[in-house]
This record gives sequence, structure tokens and C-alpha cells, in this order.
Amino acid sequence: MMRLVFLGPPGVGKGTQAEFVAKELKIPHYSTGDIFRKILKDSSSLSKELAKFVNTGELVPDDIVFETLKETLFTSKANNNGWVLDGYPRNKAQAEMLDNLLANNNEKIDYAIYLSADREILAQRLSSRRVCSECGTIYNLAMNPPKREGICDKCRGKLIQRKDDKIETVLKRIFIFEKEFSPLKEYYESRGILLVINGEGTTKEVFNQIKKGLNLG
Ligand SMILES: [Zn+2]
Repeated sequence: MMRLVFLGPPGVGKGTQAEFVAKELKIPHYSTGDIFRKILKDSSSLSKELAKFVNTGELVPDDIVFETLKETLFTSKANNNGWVLDGYPRNKAQAEMLDNLLANNNEKIDYAIYLSADREILAQRLSSRRVCSECGTIYNLAMNPPKREGICDKCRGKLIQRKDDKIETVLKRIFIFEKEFSPLKEYYESRGILLVINGEGTTKEVFNQIKKGLNLG
């Protein structure tokens, strides 16, 4: 039984590692994006509420995110052996809300895994990202470049840089993350469940570090 949250700045590879760990432990992996997509598919009042924000591209308010989590973490047998959460909590207030919610069900988080990386490295990684304007395939000019410059391998569509991945936006995103992150980090540190992992290595290196940290061999 293992309940894990993944923390870390944009571009550090949280989603990928969270997925690997979930597979290794055979437990579900939830990102807030996945949770939203799933809830939007049904016709509940929560779904209607959520749709208002998602459809207009607005940030989903804390209380609605919280309701979606509640719906996801406690209503499925798939969660019997735990789960991996990434993209939540983003700040200390959310972490406390999540802990209270779990405590009401006699549950708790086992580890908060923090993937850290130097700001310069993150900025580099994110600003090297390109996406196919036709099929949405993601490339990285440094780590996973297309065979022909500017052209998608799969559909020959044109590769573009998303506004979110431009260097100024990237630095702003990292800055916002850092501001909210230190109280969150201290919170998990004080609970004795923070596991700090260097996220600068290759995907495999980072995964091995996490496995070691969780005593998975
Ligand atoms: Zn394509």
C-alpha cells in the first residue's frame, strides 16, 4: 500500500516518473488533467461546474479541484492499494486540505517525492520543446529531436513552439512555482515524508533513484 504525491517545477518530468512508479507498484496514476478529463465525461453537477472553467481556459478554483479529487480518490476499488498523484497539491493550503480529507478516511500520504532541478536546466528543457501543429506529437530539440528540422516524423506537420514554452513564459512559470513551493516543501519535511530526488539525470537514472528512495530495490 503506497500513497504518493509528486512535486516539482515545470519541466522536471514529474508526469513521466509518476507514471513509471505507478506501473511499478501497479496502482493508478492521477494527474489533475486526467481527473478533469474523466469527470467532464459524465453529466454530474460537478462536471458542469468544472466545464465552465476548463472551457474558458480559466484556472480551476481550489474548491472545485478538491471536489474532483474527492470523487476520484474515494470512489474506486482501483485505489485499494494506493495511488500516485501528480500536479496536486501545488501549495501548502492544498496539502493541508488533502491531508484532512485523507485523515477522515483513516488514510495518509506515505511520501511526497520532490524532483528538483536547476532553474537553468529546466528553462533549457522547456524552451527546447516543439509540438506538431497537426497531430500534437511532442518533440524536444535536445533530447528527442525530429528527423527533419521543423517537420513532424509522424505526419509531416509543421512543428511549432507553444506560447507556454517560450523562454520568458517558462521563467515566469518556474518563478511562480518556486514562490509557492517552499512552504509546501517545509510542510512535508516537517511531517517527515519528503523524499528529495535529483531530477537532472536521464529518465532512467531518476527512476532508479526514486525506487531506491522508496525501497523498491
Ligand atoms: Zn504530426
